Amino acid sequence: MSTLLLEEMTWPEIKTALENGYRTVIIPSGSIEQHGPPLAQISDTTIGEASALDLAKRLGKTLVAPVIRPGLSDHHLALPGSLSLRPQIFAGLVEDYIACYKAHGFKQFILISSHGGNFSALDDITAKMQEKYPNLKFVTGLPLPDLINLLADMEREENMPAGSCGGHACDYETSVMLHLAPQHVRMAEAKAGYVGKPTPEILDRMHQKGITAVSASGVLGDPGRADAERGKRYFEKEQEAIYRAIRNKLDH
Ligand SMILES: [Zn+2]
Repeated sequence: MSTLLLEEMTWPEIKTALENGYRTVIIPSGSIEQHGPPLAQISDTTIGEASALDLAKRLGKTLVAPVIRPGLSDHHLALPGSLSLRPQIFAGLVEDYIACYKAHGFKQFILISSHGGNFSALDDITAKMQEKYPNLKFVTGLPLPDLINLLADMEREENMPAGSCGGHACDYETSVMLHLAPQHVRMAEAKAGYVGKPTPEILDRMHQKGITAVSASGVLGDPGRADAERGKRYFEKEQEAIYRAIRNKLDH
């Protein structure tokens, strides 16, 4: 098949894929939200699509839904251009995707997010869908705390200063974007934002008062030395971790 992305396939191609055992679909969710001065608002959506496509190739017999965006981004609304859905609208979108693909014959649904703000909602939706459709399988990716730990590990392995990979338009995300979609990166504008541990207090303050209560530029981390080659390594390590978290939960 020339693509695993459902929105780029024709219905006869999708029908043939289903007949050939492609019964697993990844539903990625991202965001359209500010990513500081260095990154375009589409960043989580770009990374989410690339991540889902890579995961589908690793898993085999798996197709990828159009990335759901916007996501849940209330804490970014202070900076212009960010979009955020009401939680019930976001849940409705995910559930409607599932209802459609279920009707077409998909049996396993992988709900992953490239945007931290969607994680807890996806956990709730996954549990609700599993209860509603006990004969289907619903799986989420790496839990958010594991991803945050992974960022810290990768930062150390790459010998980057502590706090570089703060999690938002940081060395990790900016490097990955330089690797995947450099046209969306403004390296001349890449400067350190909040550089410190993403402690529960910091995350609470960000979610309650908005990101500008923590970082005026909307950056968490330091993208100033971002690099495409390092971005490729970050992406591959993260993908391997996501793949390992998911593969054993599936039926194939
Ligand atoms: Zn992002």
